[in-house]
Amino acid sequence: MTQRQTQSNYSRNRLKLLRARIRELKLDALLTLDPANLRWLSAWQEVFDDEPAHLTLVTAKKAYIHTDSRYADALHARNTQGLWQVSPKVTGHFAYVQAVLARTHRQGLRLGYESTLRLDQYKALKKALSKTSVKLVETGRVFEDLRAIKDEEEIRLLRRAQAITDAAFAELLTWVRCGMREQEVANRLDFTLREKGAEDLAFKTIAASGPNAALPHARPTRRRLRTGDFLTLDFGARYRDYCADMTRTLVLGEATDKQRRIYDAVLAAQTQVKAGIRAGMTGKQADESARTVLRAEGLDESFTHSLGHGVGINVHEGPVLSQQNTAPLVAGNVVTVEPGVYLPGYGGVRIEDFGLVGERGFTSFTSSPHALIEVL
Ligand code: ZN
Ligand code: ZN
Repeated sequence: MTQRQTQSNYSRNRLKLLRARIRELKLDALLTLDPANLRWLSAWQEVFDDEPAHLTLVTAKKAYIHTDSRYADALHARNTQGLWQVSPKVTGHFAYVQAVLARTHRQGLRLGYESTLRLDQYKALKKALSKTSVKLVETGRVFEDLRAIKDEEEIRLLRRAQAITDAAFAELLTWVRCGMREQEVANRLDFTLREKGAEDLAFKTIAASGPNAALPHARPTRRRLRTGDFLTLDFGARYRDYCADMTRTLVLGEATDKQRRIYDAVLAAQTQVKAGIRAGMTGKQADESARTVLRAEGLDESFTHSLGHGVGINVHEGPVLSQQNTAPLVAGNVVTVEPGVYLPGYGGVRIEDFGLVGERGFTSFTSSPHALIEVL
């Protein structure tokens, strides 16, 4: 099979999953404006960017893309199996929806839209359909729920994104040193990710040293790395639209006993979660498991964020591993496990891997070492 045929097979299968949900929700059609949803549904690689230029409309029999003319040629070229009706945009997206639905001549047709639709878009949609009998139905997050379960093609791309990220980290260890500024470290790491094959970054790289490492979402500053610092690096490659996400915390110079104690506690929490996570466990149970380990060390109150999140086309997607998520994980979820301890004014440690949830356990995509690294 050619690569294009393989992609069509994945697309066909994802359309099938979506149509099953459309039937369950008693809808006649479902629309989305999120380009990540179209990227997932079409399985087309290297066509879409973050620009919300496309409307996707799926019915029981057909799948439509209404797109900006700048993308139309590229989408036509991908549509070799004819799974999609691709139309370059001449009217507004919602006038197009109205015209397509009018062709069915059905009264009281139920059109689903996702809860993430922006309010102004919802109002425009409602207005475009005001003279029709179409009923608008809010559906929740149909796409996000489907996208939370990865197929083998997605797992392949996620593994590749992480392999690039691991390779960039190995190279960073050859050049990172005291005296460099956080911004220099982040810039050079970004360049290294691209050199190793990243098409883009999955998100803005974090390089946080010394007291800045106590901020889970620190932006790189002009602070220079010093002996005695923790250095937290949180970064990931984007490969064929799929994200990687990893964190490692290094010590500059020889680690003190206090640094080792904090590091070992975070690593023990991460190790315990990865050993226990599997389908059927809830996001809350996974989060609690990390907190229990940190509590034994008196550090649970310094773990100030949730344990992890799903990763796919977006770096943050479902399911979340947090106190709020009482839904069981299912085989095919891809999640991060990223406990952290943050001591204001002192520094912090976070260790993050990501991988696949299976019936029997967790398979990490991250192959970088976990033992404490001292940059001497
Ligand atoms: Zn991260
Ligand atoms: Zn993360």
